[in-house]
Amino acid sequence: MTDTAARTDTYTKFVRSAPGKLIAKQVGLPRPSTLPRRGDRPEPVLGPVVVLGDSAGAEQITRDLLGQGIDVRRRFDELRSVGSVVAVLDEISTPADLGRILLPLSGAMRSLAPGARVVTISRPARGEDPARDAARGGVEGFLRSLAHEMRGGATANGILVRDGVDLDAPGVTGALRFLLSARSAFVTGQFLTVSTADGSRTADLAKPLAGRTALVTGAARGIGAAIARTLAADGAQLVVLDVPGAGTELSRLANDLRAVPVQLDVTSDGAGDRLVAFLRERGLSLDIAVLNAGITRDKLFANMTPERWVPVLAVNISSQITLTQALIEAGDVLGDQPRVVSLASTSGIAGNRGQTNYAASKAGVIAFVGALAARLESIGGTANAVAPGFIETEMTAKMPALTREVARRLNSLQQGGLPVDVAEAIAFLASDEAGGLRGETLRVCGQNMVGK
Ligand code: NAD
Repeated sequence: MTDTAARTDTYTKFVRSAPGKLIAKQVGLPRPSTLPRRGDRPEPVLGPVVVLGDSAGAEQITRDLLGQGIDVRRRFDELRSVGSVVAVLDEISTPADLGRILLPLSGAMRSLAPGARVVTISRPARGEDPARDAARGGVEGFLRSLAHEMRGGATANGILVRDGVDLDAPGVTGALRFLLSARSAFVTGQFLTVSTADGSRTADLAKPLAGRTALVTGAARGIGAAIARTLAADGAQLVVLDVPGAGTELSRLANDLRAVPVQLDVTSDGAGDRLVAFLRERGLSLDIAVLNAGITRDKLFANMTPERWVPVLAVNISSQITLTQALIEAGDVLGDQPRVVSLASTSGIAGNRGQTNYAASKAGVIAFVGALAARLESIGGTANAVAPGFIETEMTAKMPALTREVARRLNSLQQGGLPVDVAEAIAFLASDEAGGLRGETLRVCGQNMVGK
C-alpha cells in the first residue's frame, strides 16, 4: 500500500470529509491526524527545540543540538509553535524534582506544532536508592501517559541512559535525533535504553549507511521491501533475500535498488551454509542483517494443528537462530561491528487471541536478541528488535474487515502504521550511532493499547 493510500483508508477519508468531520466530532469518533514523514519533513530534527532541565547534561544536549545547526531555546518564552521539547532529567534524585523540570511543559502543550516531538532523557532505576529510583521510575509513568495525550500526530518518547554513560555518547545523540525527526512517525510512548558509550557519530546525515552492506530477508514485499528501500536510500548496498516463489518481485526490487538478489527459503535444510557460500562467492561481507521474513497461520489454540504451528515457529524464529549462527561461525562474512535487527511483534509482548503460534515465535525473537546481543558484543556487534503493531501490508490486509478497522484505531495515533515507519526504526538500529543499544526491542506501534 502506498503512503497516500494508507493515509486515507476509508474511515480516515470519511472523518476528513466535511460531513464526516462534523459527525465524528459530535459522536467522539477517532480523527487520525496526518503523521509527519521523511518525504514531507526531511530535516534531521523537527525544530525549534526547547531543552528543559538544569543539569550539566541539559547543557551538553543543548550544545550538541546547537552544534548541528538547530534552533534551540532553553525556555518557551514567546515561542508560538514548538517543534520539539527535550526534558533532561539525568540528575533527578527525588520525585519532587520531576515537577520542577516537567511542569513548564504543561503551559506549552497547546503551543506544540502538529507532529511535534517530546523526548525525556533520564536514567533507569538501579534498585539502590529508593528516592532516586522513585524519581527515575516516575519519568516512565509520566511519559507513557503524556504520549496518550498528544494530539495532531505529535509523539512522546524517552531515552534511558545507563549510569556511567555520558549524554554525549553516540547512542544518545543518535536516539535523540531519531526520536526528534519525522523518521519516528509511528513510535510513541516508548523508551530506548542506551547501555554503553559504543558506536560512532554519523559523518554524513544524508547517507548514514554509506559503505555498509545490508542483508534483508523476506524483502520481496511489504515491510521487507520498505526496509530494503530505506536502507538503500540511507546509502547501504543491499542483498535482498526471499523464497523462490517471490522471485519476480524480488528481481524487480533488486533492479530498482541495484541490489544483489538471493532466492532462498530460510527454513530449508542448510539455508545458513548456502547463504554463507553465496556471500563468499560474491566476496560480500555483511555489516547489517535484518531478519524480517515472517508468516502468520492464525487459529484459536483449541483448533491448532502442526501444519499451522510448525512453519510459523520455523520461519519466524528458528531460521533467525540458524542464519545468525551460520553467519557468526563462518568468521569471514560479517563486517567489524555487525548490526542484527530482527522483526518481533507487539503480539510477542502482549499475546493476541488466535496467535499462540505467532506470539510464541515473536516472544522468542525478543528473548533471542537479548542473548545474541551478548554473543555479538565480543566482536563489537549488536542485536536488537523492532516490534511493529498494526502495519498496513498484505499480511494485515488478510484480516477480517471489522477486526482490521478496530486494530487500526487501537493506538494513540488512531491509525495503522506504514511499512516505512518500521523501516526507519530499523535503519536507526542498524546505524553506527546505535552501537550502545543492545538487546532492545523497540515498539513501532503508535502506542498500541496492549499490555502484558
Ligand atoms: P508479508 O507477508 O507482506 O511479507 C513477508 C515476506 O517474507 C514475503 O515476501 C515472504 O515471501 C517472505 N518469506 C516468508 N517465508 C519465507 C521463507 N521461508 N524464506 C524467505 N522468505 C520468506 O509480511 P509483512 O507484513 O511485510 O511482515 C514482515 C515482518 O514483520 C514479519 O516478520 C512479520 O511477522 C512482522 N510484523 C508485521 C506486522 C504487520 O502489521 N504487517 C506486525 C508485526 C510484525
